[in-house]
This record gives sequence, C-alpha cells and structure tokens, in this order.
Amino acid sequence: MDTVFILFDFSYFTLVVLILLAIVTGVIIDTFGELRDQASQKAERLKSQCFMCGLGEGVFSNFDLHVDEEHNLWSYAAYIVYLQELPVVRQTRLEQYVHGKIITGDSSWLPNNQAAVISMSSETEDATNHDVLERIGNLEETMSYLLAEVKLGQGAQQS
Ligand SMILES: [Zn+2]
Repeated sequence: MDTVFILFDFSYFTLVVLILLAIVTGVIIDTFGELRDQASQKAERLKSQCFMCGLGEGVFSNFDLHVDEEHNLWSYAAYIVYLQELPVVRQTRLEQYVHGKIITGDSSWLPNNQAAVISMSSETEDATNHDVLERIGNLEETMSYLLAEVKLGQGAQQS
C-alpha cells in the first residue's frame, strides 16, 4: 500500500514540476524571441532610415552621404556639447535659440521628417518651373506685340 502512495506522490510531483518547468521555459523563450524581434526591427530601421530626420532611404539620391555628412548624429551631439560648454555671452543669436531649446528639452530645432537637401531641391524645381512659365508668357507677349507691329507696318506700306 505504501509503495502505491509513494509512486503516486512521486509521479504527481514529477508531473507538476515538469508542467511548471515547461511554463517557465516557454515564457523565457517567448520573451527572448520578442526581444530579438525588437532588436532586429530597430537595427533594420537604423539601417533604412535617417536617425535624425526619420526619412527613409528611398527619399534620398545618396542616402549614405545624407547619414554620414548632412545629418550626422555625432555632429549634432558635438554641437549640443559645444553649446553647453560655450559661455552664453559668446553665443550668437542662433546658438542662444538652440541652447534655449536644449535647456527646456524642446526638440523642435531638430529636423523631423524634413531635410534641407529635399526642401531645397523641390524649391529649386518649383522656382525653375515658375521661371520657365514666366519667360514663356513674356515671349508670347513680345511675339504678339511684334506681330502687331509687323502687320501695322505692312498696312502702312500698302496704303
Ligand atoms: Zn536625415
């Protein structure tokens, strides 16, 4: 009789311990898998988006140049340190403005979904189109004026 109880107790505790162990192991594996997914998503985002402005790789003609020089993270970090080390009396108005934003924790001075390269290229394109249209309009006016002059001249010669 004792042997049956001992066997039952042993198998009961073995089963409970095995189930608990499986639960704990499952939770650990799930958590690590989730962390690994998050880390790979972050790495992918850092590779395909600019850290400073958040614009994607496809927006720029030369993404590496943009990330390495135009929006270099360490240039911004160096500028912040420079502003913190520079005495306020020696700061220019622009430096005072940015320093004030940094002190208050306002990040609106940082590029957010915008880059000077892109806005400049679209502005130049707009300006070029507008310029060309204006020139065409001026040419049409000049041509119609010249045609009218020629017609007037011909009319005067005939009479
Ligand atoms: Zn950028």
